[in-house]
Amino acid sequence: MPDKSRQDWTSLAGEIEIESRAFIDGAYRDALSGATRETINPANGQKLADVANCGVADADRAVAVARAVFERGTWANMAPADRKMVLVRWAELIADNADEIALLECLDVGKPIADTTGVDVPSAVRTIRWSGEAIDKVYDQISPAPADCLALVQRLPLGVVAAIVPWNFPLSTTAWKLAPSLATGNSVILKPASNTPLSALRIAGLATQAGLPDGVLQVLPGPGGSLGKHLSLHEDIDGLTFTGSTEIGKQLMQYSGQSNLKRTFLELGGKSPNIVFADSNLEKAAMMAAVAVFYNGGQTCTAGTRLIVENSVKAKFVEMVVEHTRNWMPGDPLDPTTSMGPMIDAAQLQTVADYVEIGKGEGASVMAGGNQVLADSGGCYHEPTIFDGVNNNMRIAREEIFGPVMSVIGFKDAEEAVAIANDSIYGLAGAVWSNNINTAHKVAAAVRVGTMGINNYFGGDVTVPFGGFKQSGNGRDKSMHAFDDYTELKTTWIEFD
Ligand code: NAP
Repeated sequence: MPDKSRQDWTSLAGEIEIESRAFIDGAYRDALSGATRETINPANGQKLADVANCGVADADRAVAVARAVFERGTWANMAPADRKMVLVRWAELIADNADEIALLECLDVGKPIADTTGVDVPSAVRTIRWSGEAIDKVYDQISPAPADCLALVQRLPLGVVAAIVPWNFPLSTTAWKLAPSLATGNSVILKPASNTPLSALRIAGLATQAGLPDGVLQVLPGPGGSLGKHLSLHEDIDGLTFTGSTEIGKQLMQYSGQSNLKRTFLELGGKSPNIVFADSNLEKAAMMAAVAVFYNGGQTCTAGTRLIVENSVKAKFVEMVVEHTRNWMPGDPLDPTTSMGPMIDAAQLQTVADYVEIGKGEGASVMAGGNQVLADSGGCYHEPTIFDGVNNNMRIAREEIFGPVMSVIGFKDAEEAVAIANDSIYGLAGAVWSNNINTAHKVAAAVRVGTMGINNYFGGDVTVPFGGFKQSGNGRDKSMHAFDDYTELKTTWIEFD
């Protein structure tokens, strides 16, 4: 819990200086066209800043700068131990400015200040520091070649990488992309989501302060449909890393095929199963079932939106989860006691409202919530909402709602639970709750997802890879495995006379 009060944060919010220009070649700059776009505080609908709205010309300029510095080798050929020092210093500078960056993220995204101070900023610091500290411990390989040969297998940076990130975890996803791509020696162009560019712009300047050579990192705010598409189709970008919707991810694969086959790694949507057996610690499972969906207002790719409960305890368990919705009533994100803020914008709020109607129309029962609240605030708040009586064929069980909406589905045995869990186009995350070690392990092994929790939800840290099976994506963020997405393998085969 941060030590500042709601009044402290509100008064800091009134004074905060917002950097709203793009970051190119080591300096903040307006878009070449002079265009700007408003960024809005979703908690009250008020404008925060007019942010540079970059276009194709800015992208070409950024790519040219990034390419030039890569070819010079200023960063790519720097000793890993020296790259490490820059990244570690950058992490320390972010930590030194933690309150300011946490406040920016709170205002821009509508995330509760308790989350941005307690999760988003510390996790970004740890991610950048960890990748930096790891990079001078990575060895290349010598193959088992014949005695008169020596074969080296080395990892080399891709070159120029574009990173496109979403609005739901702007700082975390930015760190997940920038830390390994920069550590491995690439030049990078980051396009934040149009709704949430502020934290990425702020930390870019700190990278230069930490010693990152000019031109290695660019941050270009601008529209996905034009700027993002142009970057994705660019012939002089070697790698594309993306976090966002499955729909846009599919387009990016096509852009890669239509252009230069740039390496394209995707972290996409989910409809994650949270499976509860009757023999589990039901108190803890109920508390975490609520966390799994209502954290970040359900605007979380890994949200456990399909609560799959053993029939024998379902009615009682749903009551227990309903009780927990009281702890998730939305409120002012600047209040340190708030657990859930607003939806990101009016369109997302409408999407949630539409799905609530779809669920009712499909015959599911609203056990809690179901309505917009705090409309007078000017913000986009929605109650935590629970549907019971859901079957896995309903749209509310199949489609990613990206709001605080839980769909409860019953099962009779482990086989049925696994079948329901795997009956999805997605495969991002999930969890199983059981005090029987056999049940827990067998079910966890059978569910086809990138991250599975046993008796926890949202478990994991920077040391483990994160990414999806099936239409949840093909890349991996975090851990040493993230380095694979940003490097090419090169073989050098040497023959001795
Ligand atoms: P989105 O609409 O796919 O947008 C993501 C990013 O792509 C934004 O920066 C967007 O720019 C840009 N973009 C949009 N159209 C583009 C195009 N044609 N070409 C290139 N870039 C384009 O997703 P979102 O609504 O921001 O984020 C929510 C989604 O992200 C959910 O599906 C969620 O599950 C997923 N997500 C996945 C993970 C994971 O790790 N698997 C983590 C977090 C979120 P604009 O902002 O300008 O539209």
